[in-house]
Amino acid sequence: MSQKSNVYDEMGVPTVINGVGTKTRVGGTLMREEAADAMREAATAFARISDLQAHASELISEVTGAEAGYVTTGAASGLTLAAAACIAGDDPGIMSDLPHTADVPREIVMPRAQRNSYDHALRASGAIIVDAGNNDRTLGPGSTNLEPWEFEGAISEETVGVAYAPGDPTDLSMIVDVAHENDLPVIVDAAGWLPPKGNLRRFVENGADIVVFSGGKAVRGPQSTGIVAGRSDLISSIALQHLDMDAIVKAWDPPKSLINPTAFDGVPRHGLGRGFKVGKEELVGLMRALELFVEEDTVARSHEWHQRAEAIGDALDTLDVLDVSYQDRTTEEAATTVSVSIDEEAAGITAIELISRLRRENPRVYVGDRDADRGTFTVNPMSLTDDDADTLIERVRATIVYDD
Ligand SMILES: *Cc1c(COP(=O)(O)O)cnc(C)c1O
Repeated sequence: MSQKSNVYDEMGVPTVINGVGTKTRVGGTLMREEAADAMREAATAFARISDLQAHASELISEVTGAEAGYVTTGAASGLTLAAAACIAGDDPGIMSDLPHTADVPREIVMPRAQRNSYDHALRASGAIIVDAGNNDRTLGPGSTNLEPWEFEGAISEETVGVAYAPGDPTDLSMIVDVAHENDLPVIVDAAGWLPPKGNLRRFVENGADIVVFSGGKAVRGPQSTGIVAGRSDLISSIALQHLDMDAIVKAWDPPKSLINPTAFDGVPRHGLGRGFKVGKEELVGLMRALELFVEEDTVARSHEWHQRAEAIGDALDTLDVLDVSYQDRTTEEAATTVSVSIDEEAAGITAIELISRLRRENPRVYVGDRDADRGTFTVNPMSLTDDDADTLIERVRATIVYDD
């Protein structure tokens, strides 16, 4: 796989040696060739978008165990549409008003410790996020982030749904139990939680009503796609708020498996999601990529990442001023990340300077900056080829000024 001479070079836009995994700002992922081929073919003929979405719904249902599914422009717009579905349900009047919702319930309760930058995607629907619990990381043992009574206490007449972001200790089953006792749907942001492949089904099995995944991360579909899996009434609401609705009402004939026209009290106009259009090419590309992701031996893939991470770590560890360790090394199906701390004084360069300098090169070299304040950079092997890894090692070496 070579990405050397290409359309970016012709434009004079520097390419990126990607040591940060599947970050949107450096292009997300390398799309599967089969998905790109499918997109090229899709570009040669027309298909009704709602038919393609109905087909995608079947595929997503099959691979996730959810009742239905939908393809969005990224997981972030999936969150916006999920929140819009919780607020509007089957009401075309509310659909037409969103995101201006002053007079209707629109609160989404979320564990405080899970608040993150993608909150904005939920709020873009008109939803207001209500925090539950605390975010105590300093007092030590004994304090928990969220107790059931705290969560229940944040729910009111104004609540339309609950949002959950995996990765914090709060138990999804507790959230689901309390939410369902209150007749509220649970939205899970699982955008970056593939692999492991089992997560395609896990959150649905654990009772989530809508789960959102990125199509442009490990699935390696088109960068601008997301996958929503969930309850069919909520997916219908999403479809109605997303599809092009320039319809003659009497001739309106949506695919019944996706939208049951009799369940809705009229035909809404273009909804909140009309600006997040998904084209036939993206739909087809995503479906192809998802099928291949499901078939893929993700354990073998993870082994490959692990070996690449170790090769990078071993090479960098030979420099006296670098100290290498690994994160997620033993997790099956996850990508081992190399964590490299710099003896900044001996190296004559801080981690932040090193990271910044590498990014200004051509090609730009991206290493992770998450722990930069602690003198550490990281390398994620997922989006590197072996050649890229060699370049990355060579550039890190060349940028560190010291006498070996
Ligand atoms: C990547 C990510 C998103 C956004 O996904 P897109 O497909 O890029 O829109 C949302 N939430 C989390 C936790 C993510 O990691």
